[in-house]
Amino acid sequence: MFDLQGAIDQAQFVTFLTGAGVSTASGIPDYRSKGGLYSDMVSPEYALSADNLRDHPDDFYQWVKAHMYYPEARPNIIHEKMAAITNAKGAIVTQNVDGLHTQAGAKNVVEFHGNLYRLHCQTCGQAIDYQTYLASEFHTADGGVIRPDIVLYGEQIAPRVIDAALEAVNAADLIVVVGTSFQVYPFAGLIQGVDPMTTLVAVNREAIDLPYGAHMVVGDAVKVFEDLQVTPA
Ligand SMILES: [Zn+2]
Repeated sequence: MFDLQGAIDQAQFVTFLTGAGVSTASGIPDYRSKGGLYSDMVSPEYALSADNLRDHPDDFYQWVKAHMYYPEARPNIIHEKMAAITNAKGAIVTQNVDGLHTQAGAKNVVEFHGNLYRLHCQTCGQAIDYQTYLASEFHTADGGVIRPDIVLYGEQIAPRVIDAALEAVNAADLIVVVGTSFQVYPFAGLIQGVDPMTTLVAVNREAIDLPYGAHMVVGDAVKVFEDLQVTPA
């Protein structure tokens, strides 16, 4: 069994790469998981696409409102321990759009796919709070359609976000992938160019495909992080 505690204790800089499995313990279901939270006819890939937002803004709105927003969700032990570790020596790059790493107090976070709780009007560009959005998809001032600042299917990730993520990955001597099958690109591609001396480990319910030499901790991430001792900085 890989000694995650020892690796974290000894690392100079730890970068966590996180996915939906980190937030399920906060009550946020993985919208990609099959047979899970919805029985719609529409696939999440289409529902969350730039095409759907453009062509069927009301369908888009109803879908994200029903399936994505969990404003009562709070960070769990994984978010809390990651925040403590990375605020001392590290960074988090997350695929999650729920903002829970930041809510847990993590200061060095790259929200690779954006954040549902930041929104703007597509007509005038003004920032809109999520409470307003959950009441109406239209900006009262100009009737413009509001959208969350998340990366939709069919959209590109901003170069500055990719740069920040690569910076976090390249700064690390320990990379810990948590709660993701690590199959969605370009997120999964972030580790392609890492220094071979960097230790790479994944914590996930099932074993995932990893580069040669990487370590796998199969198990419940909540349990794994509960057991981690975090020494205050
Ligand atoms: Zn507007």
